[in-house]
Amino acid sequence: MIIVLKDKKENKELKDYLNINKIKSERSILNGKLVYSVNGKGIDREKIANFEAVEKVLNISSEAYKVNSNKDVIVNKINFSKDFNVIAGPCSVESYSQLIKIAKNLKEKGIKILRAGAFKPRTSPYSFQGLGKEGLEILSRVKKETGLFLCCEILDKNLIDDYKDIDILQVGARNMQNYDLLKALAKQNKPILLKRGMGSTVNEFLLSAEYLMQNGNKNIILCERGIKTFENGTRNTLDLSSVSQVKHFSSLPIIVDPSHAAGRYDLIESMSLAAVAAGADGLLIEVHDKPSIAMSDGKQSLKLDKFSSLLDKVSKLSKFMRKI
Ligand code: PEP
Ligand code: MN
Repeated sequence: MIIVLKDKKENKELKDYLNINKIKSERSILNGKLVYSVNGKGIDREKIANFEAVEKVLNISSEAYKVNSNKDVIVNKINFSKDFNVIAGPCSVESYSQLIKIAKNLKEKGIKILRAGAFKPRTSPYSFQGLGKEGLEILSRVKKETGLFLCCEILDKNLIDDYKDIDILQVGARNMQNYDLLKALAKQNKPILLKRGMGSTVNEFLLSAEYLMQNGNKNIILCERGIKTFENGTRNTLDLSSVSQVKHFSSLPIIVDPSHAAGRYDLIESMSLAAVAAGADGLLIEVHDKPSIAMSDGKQSLKLDKFSSLLDKVSKLSKFMRKI
């Protein structure tokens, strides 16, 4: 557990409390603040958080805190820790002609990172499972022709070599706790987009990020994509509190995916704006030139013209948010 003080001055009251309760601590100064790293077992976290001098108490290892408090997450030259970024594209690669058309349109709109799945983890085994390796080849071709960077979900650590042209390896919601996959991806020198599991708490989400960090990969972008609740008007429930919680516990960037959260195209704009207002570092949005015939997730995919008007509003709001 980590106790972060408001500044770098020692606090007598807190020091006495730790001594009296025989809580061993290691001290360090990080980002100009005094940080105690303690073994969290049996500690009254709330009590410590209530000390006047304490800024926050984090339920993560000191290593992860040190790692992620000092580093920007950068994909090629795109800085996810400082700039607001939108990753967009269809749910799946369906064909070369489909992807190149969407990619060129997105590029004109200023998008730098294209998303599209090649191996699709579908709830039903009867649904389209993706084009597999052929999908990855199409992605490589589109990258070569447009210069867009690529974000694509990986399901199987044995296929890492096939993802050589992919710039951001996406770990999907269903695999957030696939520790074997996380450990293998941690050894790759590539940024990871880690999606929140649909039944996972924010703490579990951050602990999955720690698996990546502990095993050598600190370039992580978190992604909130909604969780299962009793609400059935939407596919999942977009939990925007995770954005604030992550900001409190960690300095990793977090983007929001309103598409998989809402599951319906008509809510994407309002949920995107809400995500920006909540402090998200970016968005991941599914778009399609013809959503009605998309092979997966058409109901939640935005048409290209609707996406333009969303981008316009998002860009104004994100600029405003960065000023206040
Ligand atoms: C996806 O991004 O296409 C996807 C399958 O998302 P999730 O893992 O959030 O369901
Ligand atoms: Mn999808």
